[in-house]
Amino acid sequence: METHKGDIPSKYGSSAPNLVNRQTIANDTVINVNGIEIGGKEIVIIAGPCAVENKEQILETAKAVYSGGANLLRGGAFKPRTSPYSFQGLGEEGLRYLSQARKETGLPVVTEVMDTRQVELVCKYADIIQIGSRSMHNFPLLKEAGKCRKPVLFKRGFMATIDEYLHAAEYILSEGNREIILCERGIRTFENYTRNTLDLSAVPVLKRQTHLPVIVDPSHGTGHSWLVPAMAKAAIAVGADGIMVEVHHKPLEALSDGQQSLYPNDFVQLVKDIEKIAEACGRKIYHHKPLIV
Ligand code: PEP
Ligand code: MN
Repeated sequence: METHKGDIPSKYGSSAPNLVNRQTIANDTVINVNGIEIGGKEIVIIAGPCAVENKEQILETAKAVYSGGANLLRGGAFKPRTSPYSFQGLGEEGLRYLSQARKETGLPVVTEVMDTRQVELVCKYADIIQIGSRSMHNFPLLKEAGKCRKPVLFKRGFMATIDEYLHAAEYILSEGNREIILCERGIRTFENYTRNTLDLSAVPVLKRQTHLPVIVDPSHGTGHSWLVPAMAKAAIAVGADGIMVEVHHKPLEALSDGQQSLYPNDFVQLVKDIEKIAEACGRKIYHHKPLIV
C-alpha cells in the first residue's frame, strides 16, 4: 500500500508499479506533440467526431473544433463497436482523411488502434495512437504500442480498477515507450442513467501515483451530450491535464455516438467556460497559432 507523508492510514488504495510510479520517476512526464505540451502547465483540448465517416464530415468538424479552440483532432478509423453490424470505421481511408484534416488545420491527430497487425499502419498516420477501453487488457497490443515511437493515449478499461489500469500502462512503459497519456473515460457501475460512471476521483489518484499526464473523456463517461460540459469542467477542476470530447457537425446523423456528441457551437461555449475554470486553478488552455489555410 502506497502512503504519502501526512496521510491518515486507510485500508483502501494500492501502489503503482515501477515505471509508472512517481516514486521511481519524480518529474511529471510532459509529452510534446508538434509543439503542444501534454502534461505541462497548460491544458489541452482534444475534440472531433467519434468516427471518421467521410471526407466532408471530418474536414468540416476539424475546422469547427480548430476555430473553437481544440489543440488536437480525434476521430476513429477503426471502431470497437458493440455490434459487428454497426459501422466499423473506414480503416485506412479514414486515416487518409485524418491526414488531410491535419494538413488543412494544423491539428495533430489522435486515432485508435485495435489490432497488433495495424500498429505500424496507424503509426504512419497518427500523431498519437489511442488504445481504447476495450483493449486495455490486450497485452500483446500494449507491448506493440510500447515498441512504437508514437505517444499513446491509453484509456482506462471500463471494468478495470486503478491498480489494473496502472499495471496495464506498465506493459507499454516496460517495452520502452515512456510517452503515455492516461485517460479516465468512466467505469461500469450499477448506475444506468449514464453510459458509464465517470470516476473523477481517479484523476487526483493517477496524478498522485504516477508522473503521467491524465486527461478525461466526459463523452464516453456520460453518454449524454448535455452532461458533457458539466463533467468536462469538473475534470479540469480536479486537476486533469486536458479533456477529449466528441464533436459532430450533425450529431443527429452521426454513424456512432451522436447522442453524446456536442454541436460545434456548444463546443465553442465549453472551451470558453473551461478557460475560466483553468484560470481559477492557475492554468490556461494551450493556444494554437492561427489557421494556416
Ligand atoms: C473512443 O474514444 O473512440 C472510444 C471508443 O472510447 P472508449 O474506448 O473509451 O469506449
Ligand atoms: Mn465514441
